[in-house]
This record gives sequence, C-alpha cells and structure tokens, in this order.
Amino acid sequence: MLELLTTYASDIGKLLLIYAAFSLVERLRPAERGQPLRAAVFNVENLLIYQLISLLLAPLLTALVVGRLRAAHPGAFELVRIDGFLDGAWKTVVFLFAYDFFYYWFHRLQHEWGFLWAQHKFHHSEESLNATTTNRHHWLEDLLRVFFIALPMSIAFDLKPAGAGLVTFIIGLWPVFIHANLRLPLGPLSRLVAGPQVHRIHHSLEARHLDRNYAAFFPLWDVLFGTYYHPGRDEYPRTGLASGERVTTIAQALWLPFGVWFGRGAALAPVAAQGSSGSATPPRPKSNAVFWAWGVMFLMVLVSLEVFAGEAGRHFRLVGG
Ligand SMILES: [Zn+2]
Ligand SMILES: [Zn+2]
Repeated sequence: MLELLTTYASDIGKLLLIYAAFSLVERLRPAERGQPLRAAVFNVENLLIYQLISLLLAPLLTALVVGRLRAAHPGAFELVRIDGFLDGAWKTVVFLFAYDFFYYWFHRLQHEWGFLWAQHKFHHSEESLNATTTNRHHWLEDLLRVFFIALPMSIAFDLKPAGAGLVTFIIGLWPVFIHANLRLPLGPLSRLVAGPQVHRIHHSLEARHLDRNYAAFFPLWDVLFGTYYHPGRDEYPRTGLASGERVTTIAQALWLPFGVWFGRGAALAPVAAQGSSGSATPPRPKSNAVFWAWGVMFLMVLVSLEVFAGEAGRHFRLVGG
C-alpha cells in the first residue's frame, strides 16, 4: 500500500511540474488570453481522482483481460510479428504509430457512438483549453483503453516499447503539448505530427470542426480515414461543448456518463444561451446507445468471469504487500 501511495504521489508531482512548466511556455504566445486560473485548478482536482483510479485499476484490468486471455489463447495474440525486425528508435516510432492507429479508432468511436460520447464529453467540456486539460478525462478512460487499445493491439502485434523510458516520456509529454494553450501553427507539418493547433480544432465548438483530428500523435491517420481538418494560419477557435452544456463540479464530472446511460436526467448544467457560435450544431448520435451499452457491459462481464480467478487476488496481494 505504501508503494502504491508513493507511486501515486510521484506521478501527481511529476504531472504538476510538467503543467507548471507548460503554463510558463503558454504565457509566451497563448492561443487564448485571460484563461481563468479556476479552470486549471478544476482539472487538477479531477486529476487527483482520475490518476488514483487509473493506478489502482488499469494494471489489474490489463492483467485480467489481456494477460489471462493471452495465457489461455497464446495463438490468438501477436498475429503480426514485427518487433524482431526493428531496433532502437524505429521500435519507438513504429510502436507509437501502431498505438495511434488504435487510439484513433477508439477516439473516433468515442465521438460517433453515443454510449462512449457520454463518457468522453467531459474531456470536451473544457472551455479554456490548456496543458492541464490533458488529463481532464472521466475516470473510466484508462479502463476503456484496456479493451479498445491494449487488447486489440496485443492481438495484432508483438510490438513492445523499446527503451520504455523514452516511449513513456513521449507518450506522457506529447498529449500535454497538443493541449497547450499555444499559438503555434505547424503549417504543412500538421499533417504529419499533431500539435496544439490541430488538436484545438478537435476541441472546437464550431460546426465545421466537429469530429475532426482524432489522432494524438500522427494526423496521417486522420488524412487516411478522411477526418483531417487543416487549420488556417490564424484559426484558433473557441472550445467547449457545442450544445452549450457545462461541467461545473467534480461530482458532475464523476457521474456524467452514468446519468446518460441510466437515464437519470441531465447531469450537466442545462443548455444555456452562451452566445455559442455553434448553436446549430447537431448533438452526437444517441441511437441504439442503450442496446450497445448493455451489449458491451455483458461482454465485459463475460470476459471478466473468464479471466477473473487468480489475477485479481494476485494483484491485490501485490498492492497490499
Ligand atoms: Zn475527442
Ligand atoms: Zn483533447
């Protein structure tokens, strides 16, 4: 338990340092001036909960789902073997490229499938996009990524992050960079490498930007799958939910998707006239949400039952000891 607390404190400490460093850089050329400090404080409050749940449950779920399935059906995993052909920096680049492919589809699903949009919309409720928005995620985010990214990725490839330190560093830092409140046009490079302007377009509440630029590292996936939007040189739109909904308390943030899934009414502040330019924007699809929600829940329960024995106890003994 002490080890877990130390890791948690160290993770939070590192992230706060990174946020602090970025907040200094953001002052140089902000995309948006006069962002309230309260917005960043709110994101840090959410981070304390999000990080704790991710640390406690994501490794356990990975062991339960990926670990146990792989042990039971080794032939169904690592279907394409390329890790042995790569070395050094290429391992890192190919790993990130593959990771971003799976992230792209998970993220696109979060936007196009009402069930997952209910979970993802908290991230998009940010009206003052900045470095601290990076981990403004609902606490289910990392758990869903086990099913939608870690599992399919380990079925498809035998890719392992070479030099784990470097990959961890890039994976950890790049998302902070793309959320930064920075006026930094990358020009033609925007199609190859994600930056703060391309991701700001993803967070925009303008109709023409809706559901664009999903990739976190390589917008090439957006170009290939037809969701890329190339920003003009001075295109730094306002951000937030096009519906005008707002998340104002941590309780709303924690409860948000469940309110939608279980029909307990709107968990958010009602749509108010905020002078939003995207007032005519249609809401995300909600069709078949309940059907799909229960289908996925049922599958998750089945998988959990199949793999639960053993790993859970081992994890908690590990955490406890
Ligand atoms: Zn999104
Ligand atoms: Zn984002």
